[in-house]
Amino acid sequence: MSNTAINFTYIVSAVLFIFGLKMLGSPATARKGNMLSAIGMLLAIGAVMMTNGLSFHYIIIAALIGGVIGFFAAKLVAMTSMPEMVALFNGSGGIASLFVGWSVYHYHPHGDMLTSITTILSVLIGGVTFTGSLIAWAKLSEKMSSKPVIYPGQQIVNSLAMLAFVGASVMFCMDPAANYPLFVGVVIASFILGVMVVIPIGGGDMPVVISLLNSYSGLAACAAGFVIQNNILIVAGSMVGAAGIILTNIMCKAMNRSLSNVLFSGFGSTTQKKGDGPQGEAKPISVQDAYYILEAAQSVVFVPGYGMAVAQAQHVVRELGEILQENGAEVSYAIHPVAGRMPGHMNVLLAEANVPYDQLIEMDDINPNMPNIDVAVVIGANDVVNPAARHDESSPIYGMPIIDVDQAKTVFVLKRSMNPGFAGIQNELFFGENTRMLFGDAKASISGLIAEFKD
Ligand code: NDP
Repeated sequence: MSNTAINFTYIVSAVLFIFGLKMLGSPATARKGNMLSAIGMLLAIGAVMMTNGLSFHYIIIAALIGGVIGFFAAKLVAMTSMPEMVALFNGSGGIASLFVGWSVYHYHPHGDMLTSITTILSVLIGGVTFTGSLIAWAKLSEKMSSKPVIYPGQQIVNSLAMLAFVGASVMFCMDPAANYPLFVGVVIASFILGVMVVIPIGGGDMPVVISLLNSYSGLAACAAGFVIQNNILIVAGSMVGAAGIILTNIMCKAMNRSLSNVLFSGFGSTTQKKGDGPQGEAKPISVQDAYYILEAAQSVVFVPGYGMAVAQAQHVVRELGEILQENGAEVSYAIHPVAGRMPGHMNVLLAEANVPYDQLIEMDDINPNMPNIDVAVVIGANDVVNPAARHDESSPIYGMPIIDVDQAKTVFVLKRSMNPGFAGIQNELFFGENTRMLFGDAKASISGLIAEFKD
């Protein structure tokens, strides 16, 4: 295939990536967007295979093995474990870029300055992404303690390691051919650095870190693209780099935290002790009494959170929503941007359960209407509905935008106990005048309500 034809195919792939990314921005078009990007990737791989002089037998074998692993991993993974899988994918991207840089250096050690710089960048960022992602995966899947690992002078040690790293990289670039051992040293150092920068971060913040590492994996791929002078790798890598950093920024904003606070504060290393936080008496309610109130409600808002994902309650929630609608109530679903454990978590679950997109209402749109809502049903959400975020300056979540369910006429909170959520703090909502606690697994409670309606 001629170079012109290959580059033309790359441009078509890049356009498909751009439209695919754009379509991923809305739940209604996300599936199509994903498909479009996948087609773009298939075209790009096809074009690479057609490059003159390339022996593609090994590539086909590797692509088949990778494709089968990816297919089954994506099919089998539980929705709640999706962040772990994304972490592993990012790590794979990082190590792939590292190997690309290394192999080019191994066979052509006399590269020019630009190739040496991009090689060392693909190795640095690729190595950090690889081990950083493995730690993120281990923390999220509780293969290691999710607590932040913090020791005195940690940031100084990390900064010194980074400086040594930069120094070694500069020396390498001056005379790459004479510095193979230094190069191997840089590879090992990048692995160590990846571990060191992720261990101080608490397990709960891992989704933000994963998004950041996703951005790194893109940058590593982009650097590898420069090393092998492959245009589509440069374009796709920079898109992943940009998308990852934008998502990281959105997540930080929704949690009202800066990126440096996520990376360096050790958030989650202390949790409120029993007895700390708001006091009062929570008022439990039975399924039957909750049914009587819902039966009379004209407007109901469901507010899903992490617990809905744990309980896998999305299908029964949709069923209850339909029953309430048939009963004459106006039903909507309020979506907080960081409800759950990954961006878009609630959208994905509700879409899976076929909840109509027009019933999903963003936090900023639902809040002004909250005082008119008869019943807000909080399903396994906790931090994202904690009113302390509005007024308690001492709260770790102070300033985080929340869904103002406390302003609805009645609030049902469906959870199993009085235990706190991700931020580790008690929630004053549970003691509110208009709040009733419906204790139990969310799926069981909602199924109980459905049964009452059907009786
Ligand atoms: P929370 O983690 O605050 O609370 C979840 C609640 O679900 C718990 O209090 C738990 O209570 C309850 N729960 C667990 N299992 C069940 C079950 N089977 N049935 C019923 N309830 C259950 O979740 P939110 O969604 O409100 O908030 C998300 C938090 O995660 C925020 O603090 C956010 O900043 C953070 N975060 C989110 C990210 C994202 O991208 N979405 C990324 C990083 C952090 P109990 O044990 O009593 O049942």
